[in-house]
Amino acid sequence: MPYATVNPFNNQLIQSFPELTDDEINAVLDRAHAAYNTWSRTPVLERCAIFAQAAKLAEERFDDLCRLTTLEMGKLYSQSVVETESIIYILKYFAEHGEDIMKPAPIFNEGDELLMMHQPQGIIISVEPWNFPLYQAIRGFAPNAIAGNVIILKHASIVPQCAAALVELLRDAGLPEGVWQNVYANHAQVDRLITDPRVRGVTLTGSVDVGRHIAATAGKSLRKTVLELGGTDAFIVLPDADLDATVDCAVAGRFFISGQVCIAPKRMIVLDEVYDQFVERFTQGASNLHPGDPFDPATTIGPLSSQAQADTVKAQIAQAIAGGASAIEIGDPVPDTGAFVQPTILTNVTKNNPIFYEEIFGPVAMIFRVKDEDEAIDLANDTYYGLGGSVHSRDIAHAVELAKRIDTGMVAINASYPSAREGKIDNYAMPFGGVKDSGYGREMGYEGVYEFCNHKVISLPVGVHATYGATNDETVITTDHRGNDEF
Ligand code: NAP
Repeated sequence: MPYATVNPFNNQLIQSFPELTDDEINAVLDRAHAAYNTWSRTPVLERCAIFAQAAKLAEERFDDLCRLTTLEMGKLYSQSVVETESIIYILKYFAEHGEDIMKPAPIFNEGDELLMMHQPQGIIISVEPWNFPLYQAIRGFAPNAIAGNVIILKHASIVPQCAAALVELLRDAGLPEGVWQNVYANHAQVDRLITDPRVRGVTLTGSVDVGRHIAATAGKSLRKTVLELGGTDAFIVLPDADLDATVDCAVAGRFFISGQVCIAPKRMIVLDEVYDQFVERFTQGASNLHPGDPFDPATTIGPLSSQAQADTVKAQIAQAIAGGASAIEIGDPVPDTGAFVQPTILTNVTKNNPIFYEEIFGPVAMIFRVKDEDEAIDLANDTYYGLGGSVHSRDIAHAVELAKRIDTGMVAINASYPSAREGKIDNYAMPFGGVKDSGYGREMGYEGVYEFCNHKVISLPVGVHATYGATNDETVITTDHRGNDEF
């Protein structure tokens, strides 16, 4: 897709950006490789200091970042505030924890000592989606760069200015040239990047089809991949749930950024005893949605990210209805122009409806009635996806037992998202990822950093021990038999 900023509120083209030439792609790889030689040997505390400085700069440029996000992607300005805050948290988290994360780990093996270092590997390609233009790009960058890897960002073609603004922010914070580069690359050039011998891994957040393509391309060249793909997360409501709080949570979770969240509650699975009440209150809650200009504080639901995305979602709603589902349109009527989709509730979605197994990445909630908890779990797991989910009950211990039976990477109790609470996206410490067609590997937290590290083991001679400084840079070797000599 050509790189361009198009305002999805009115579909007006703001600015186009030329793709790189193949020679420029080669130059990007050369720069990344050169940068790796120094960045990988830069003490981790120096890397942390650059992250801390970048967090400060993001605070100074806060409004600009929010405006760009709303302009390019169409989410409400208040939602861009939440997103911009999240990148500041992430930068601060790795600035504070980078030293501990990279600390070597001793392994004791029958009295012998092994020294395990977490070392970087080289160039990582980060292919990111548009739904959280700042947060997704930082998720691909921060855990990998703190480890000493260098990153080439291929962002979604509809958010070119967000990509450029972030890379510029890190550069201004002192990140050396070549450590994080933004490329306006076409899909064939992404294949070229992945297969270059200097590249060691690819992290993709996106759709299942693109995941298959990237994993196949990477697999042929034996590049490791981390894939964060789609989801059809279940939102299980038990009869003892606090219904008011649960409905608020369902409405907010499903319609946040017009439903374009990978871990949004896409399937509400409600126990028979409370089904009718839940549907009534959910419909009432969602009917307060006011579509409009995402910069207007009175607007509570914005457009989708692009006209193409809106057309896809409208086609899915039509397909669901043709397959026998009942549809109720909710909220104020959406504007005639712009990438809007009328918020919709789907009920009576049966297994033979083609939409049953699809992810709808838009303002559409599916609600299912189940007779008991076993049926709820069976339905929750009857999907190709396995990203997140949630269980809603006053009995937390029981909810946790049910959560264990949901076949996904993350489950929340009494919240819409496992990674966001009280209006904040605060998953910087949480290993984020899924199973099944939702992908594999984790981003964020310690596990996210280790995905593209070489966990190199150095086996020490008998009688020799290592004491550990704070980082890979400070390992002190001592020998017992010579009386703790250091050398
Ligand atoms: P997408 O079409 O898969 O695009 C994602 C990225 O892949 C974009 O940068 C896109 O670039 C690039 N891309 C597409 N085709 C490619 C190819 N053949 N070779 C190389 N790169 C290619 O996904 P999307 O529609 O933007 O995002 C929505 C999907 O992402 C949903 O399924 C959602 O659930 C998932 N998602 C998952 C997570 C998670 O953490 N699990 C988070 C957010 C979103 P272009 O823009 O140039 O096509």
